[in-house]
Amino acid sequence: MTAVTAESARPPRQPARQPARPPARRPARPPRHLADLTPDERDRWAGELGLARMRTRQVARHYFARLEAGAQAMTDLPADGRDRLVGQLLPELLTEVAKRAADGGSTVKTLYRLFDSATLETVLMAYPGRVTLCVSSQAGCGMACPFCATGRMGLRRNLSAAEIVEQVRLGARAAAAGECGPNVPRRLANVVFMGMGEPLANYRAVVRAARAIAAAPPDGFGLSARHLTVSTCGLAPAIGRLAGEGLALRLAVSLHAPDDEARDRLVPINRRYGVRATVEAAWRYFQATGRRVSIEYALIRDINDQGWRASMLADLLSRHGTGWVHVNPIPLNPVPGSEWTASRAAVQAEFVRRLEDAGLSVTLRDTRGQEIDGACGQLAAREVGN
Ligand code: SAH
Repeated sequence: MTAVTAESARPPRQPARQPARPPARRPARPPRHLADLTPDERDRWAGELGLARMRTRQVARHYFARLEAGAQAMTDLPADGRDRLVGQLLPELLTEVAKRAADGGSTVKTLYRLFDSATLETVLMAYPGRVTLCVSSQAGCGMACPFCATGRMGLRRNLSAAEIVEQVRLGARAAAAGECGPNVPRRLANVVFMGMGEPLANYRAVVRAARAIAAAPPDGFGLSARHLTVSTCGLAPAIGRLAGEGLALRLAVSLHAPDDEARDRLVPINRRYGVRATVEAAWRYFQATGRRVSIEYALIRDINDQGWRASMLADLLSRHGTGWVHVNPIPLNPVPGSEWTASRAAVQAEFVRRLEDAGLSVTLRDTRGQEIDGACGQLAAREVGN
């Protein structure tokens, strides 16, 4: 909010008549889509378009309850004008560009092109008994973490809520079609915001999308918020705001170092919100929501994987006890052109042992899809030639 200060109350210094300036360049926005809107807003949109509310509700039911966006399948709509109506409410936002499978077919990565030729990716991962979809929140990312392929691309733009929701619809359809192989559940169990982008830097669209993903059909997909994870590099004020949304989202914080010296380098936003402030925000999130927070820690050889750093991390986190947090160390997935690489197995094991000895719960995660430039923006980086 802008406060009225003595400065702004003064008469403008500029003369009233100014030379004509070119209009400010605003980034183009994707077309409005039903999934950008809350159920009330959908009803209002129907009014603006001169439609009966029933029409937007019918289309929402196809979209959220049946994962359907094609006019042909919507035979309950009047045939006359059906294509135009569906084209208006559900404009195509994501066009598939490439799809690759890895890990024996249990990891499927899809690259999509958006209306303005920006690209994003999603990854569908099957584990025994559950399927998780990893979605993007931005095209590119402005956080500039040097070990992350997306961080090296820079930010192109925020995604709209519907561009996020549409990733989930398409991922859920792929899972329903059995694309993750046989003997795998056909229903999505989890959605994680761990693709491209910093979700809390696109706060409004991400929260809107989360509500649409979690709402019961036909208002949303009905995937409970408990099965939705927002992963952040630590935008501390936004973590506080998220805690007050009344959504029981899971929160993951990408810490990657227990000390400001290493974290300033690995996660540059740390220069603004340091380790202490980040961990405090995570702890307060737990207090407000009762949801155990995950701490992500990419183990990078000789950079942040020393035993003393494991002990320092254990001290830092267990200051509030150990029940509020879960630690996920993950071996670095090296990005091309970087000299950083994953820690040695023995070093990883020692790191985990020190955390466990402090009473923390720890899961050493596997890196999925390495042979298809698996994690973290690498497929998109390759396709667009970065
Ligand atoms: N911006 C969000 C989500 C991005 S990616 C965040 O920072 O949390 C999701 C996770 O993958 C983050 O923990 C991120 O730090 C991690 N990650 C990024 N690049 C990686 C790499 N090359 N190897 C291992 N993990 C990586």
